[in-house]
Order: sequence, then C-alpha cells, then structure tokens
Amino acid sequence: MIAWMAILDRLPTRNRLQQMGIITDGLCVLCNEDRETRDHLFLQCSMTNSLWKAILHLFGLRSTTLSWNNFLASASLTWKGKSLLITILKLAWCALLYSLWEEQNRRLFKGNSRTIVEILKAIKEMVGIQLRGYS
Ligand SMILES: [Zn+2]
Repeated sequence: MIAWMAILDRLPTRNRLQQMGIITDGLCVLCNEDRETRDHLFLQCSMTNSLWKAILHLFGLRSTTLSWNNFLASASLTWKGKSLLITILKLAWCALLYSLWEEQNRRLFKGNSRTIVEILKAIKEMVGIQLRGYS
C-alpha cells in the first residue's frame, strides 16, 4: 500500500507539505541533507541507500544508483518470476519503504529515532513474518 502510494507520489512528503504551505522546512528528517521529495526519501537519501545496500548485501547483491523511474523500470524488468530471491527482494523493498515512512513519522511526531542497524533488524523481521505466510 505504502509502495503504491509512493509510486503514485501521493505520500505527504515534507516537500509536498511545504508546497502546500503547511511547513516551512522541507528538509529530509532522516539525513537533514536534502529536500524531502519522494525520490529523495525512497531512493536518494543516504539512509535509504545504506539500508538497501545492506539488504542486497544479505543476498550477495550490489545496488546501483538509479533515478526513481529507472529504478521502477529496472525492477519491473528484472523482478520477474516466483523465485525465492525475487519474492524476498520484493518483500524487502516494500518493508524498506514502510520502515522509512515509519521512521520519518517517528522522528517527526514522536521525537525519537532508530539506528540503521535497528531499522534493518525490523525489516528482516517483517520479511521473515511474511515469508512464513508463503510456505
Ligand atoms: Zn534524506
């Protein structure tokens, strides 16, 4: 669900909230380095990249930095079939998007944060729970 909202660019990222005049500071709360657009939060953010690289590393894969549209095009071309690896990658990617969104909300509204290691652990747990539903 979050993944589809992100694809549709409907998530209220801080850049969008700023455009609507709701907030004045549109910086990403995960890295504080760049404006928080959909592409930034889910693809370019240094935290997003570290997490995705860590996930791929678990499977001995390497990530390449692509634009959002190229990333989706590449994923739709290569993430085909029902192999276990593809299933896990899809689950992990959705879990990553969900975790980033959750982390952003946690930092904005609850005033606390998790480390990359803690977020990665949560992602692994989410994927593990969903994989059990497949067997
Ligand atoms: Zn960022």
